[in-house]
Amino acid sequence: MHEAHGKAKAIITKALAFHEALRAKLLEDSEFLKLIRKYRLTIEHTWQCMKDLRIPEKCALCGQSEKGSCCAPEVATWYDPETLLVNLLMGQSMPKNPYYPDHCIFLGKSGCTLKARHYYCVQFLCPSIKQDLSEKNLEKLMKTAGREILAGSQTLTYLHRKIITA
Ligand code: SF4
Repeated sequence: MHEAHGKAKAIITKALAFHEALRAKLLEDSEFLKLIRKYRLTIEHTWQCMKDLRIPEKCALCGQSEKGSCCAPEVATWYDPETLLVNLLMGQSMPKNPYYPDHCIFLGKSGCTLKARHYYCVQFLCPSIKQDLSEKNLEKLMKTAGREILAGSQTLTYLHRKIITA
């Protein structure tokens, strides 16, 4: 097993423990529910924008090629348990084992299995995709992704300040 997968599994274990302990409390917190709903909406907007620009198709082609996806195993170790907790609250499940032994533990057969993602994953575009985008489309995508990153940060700040450290 890749060293990063072991580290990622430890973060996942913490997230599952948070979920077990805090789920009921969080699902009764109207302020938190408002934030997570807005966050989910901004995530959907980013994906729609990416689909409109046919980026997932291009990523899938690259992923199926010999060089594989750009989702490196180490990226999963940049996640904190709180972001994974948000994923669990959004109904995502956590991987027990990596689907691809040499890629990020969150990369599944059909792409990333997370909804709430690290800002790096949200805003990263490889040079080839960037090159294919017009300035206008790149700006539109970056603005949309920026709104997702902001909503994610507001959700996590609330989670930290009001719930976990309360
Ligand atoms: S987009 Fe998903 S699969 Fe890819 S590196 Fe980020 S978390 Fe991992």
